[in-house]
Amino acid sequence: MKIGIVGLGLIGGSLGLDLRRQGHQVYGVARRADTCAAAVMGGMVDGATTDLASLAAVEVVLICTPIAAIAPTVQALVPHLTTDTIITDVGSVKGAVVQAVSPLWPRFVGGHPMAGKAEAGLAAAEAGLFRQRPYGITPLETTDPDAIATVHTLAESLGAQVFICTPEAHDRAVAWISHLPVMVSSSLIQACLQESDTPVRELAQHLASSGFRDTSRVGGGNPELGLMMACYNRGEILRSLRFYQKQLATLTDLIEQEQWETLTTLLQASHDARPGFVEADP
Ligand code: NAP
Repeated sequence: MKIGIVGLGLIGGSLGLDLRRQGHQVYGVARRADTCAAAVMGGMVDGATTDLASLAAVEVVLICTPIAAIAPTVQALVPHLTTDTIITDVGSVKGAVVQAVSPLWPRFVGGHPMAGKAEAGLAAAEAGLFRQRPYGITPLETTDPDAIATVHTLAESLGAQVFICTPEAHDRAVAWISHLPVMVSSSLIQACLQESDTPVRELAQHLASSGFRDTSRVGGGNPELGLMMACYNRGEILRSLRFYQKQLATLTDLIEQEQWETLTTLLQASHDARPGFVEADP
């Protein structure tokens, strides 16, 4: 299959590596010529240009730009495509994207591979990033079933596990397990920086180990991505943050009042619930 990727960063580059390994011909479009050259050199694409018209003959286009650029990119792309081209995206928010893009192209299917890294950009791209990771697909009732099936097959070919849901359900669910964690993790780093005793703060930085690495990873990642999540999934992030604030207040009260038994019950419940979200650590 001939596949186009617009936006050659972490996600676009990683998709290119996997899709090429499966024998697809992959053509990239980036804003800058040096990104195009780096993507060809790195084996992410067979060829790349800064011109959307170069994707006229591809069968599927994956839009891998930051969320704010997805709809404008599709708008600029569609005059160059034939009517049977399928467009999908990888944006971390689906409601706003699907609403903006669906009227622009009948064969658009919203998608979201649930995998990432703290680093951004093409240099961070890696093969196999989506293997054994969830991949959300968010069609509307009106979405062409053939287009859904093609995106479904492509996502599964990456080794990902596909979940089909509405854009609204996707955005509420990812607020809990992806967007809220980014805000919580960022707040954790900010709270640690509030230690006013400099030697103690520096000691904490030296003593930080695997626990802090795990809990700070998503909050210390790509700032632009966190901002986009907040702007485009504002209602659901606020809803989850309010539940989280209540939970923190409960914990604070229990510790203040030395209610160790209740605290133990709560921590045990969290311990028991975690495998429902993620498999046990290796
Ligand atoms: P990234 O590494 O920063 O890559 C984005 C790329 O898009 C950049 O390399 C940039 O390339 C290009 N770009 C930036 N602005 C653009 C514009 N206005 N028009 C065209 N191209 C533009 O970001 P990413 O992590 O791959 O994220 C890309 C998409 O994947 C986002 O929609 C995000 O929501 C989604 N996503 C991210 C993750 C994650 O954890 N990182 C996970 C799943 C989905 P040049 O500067 O070279 O042009």
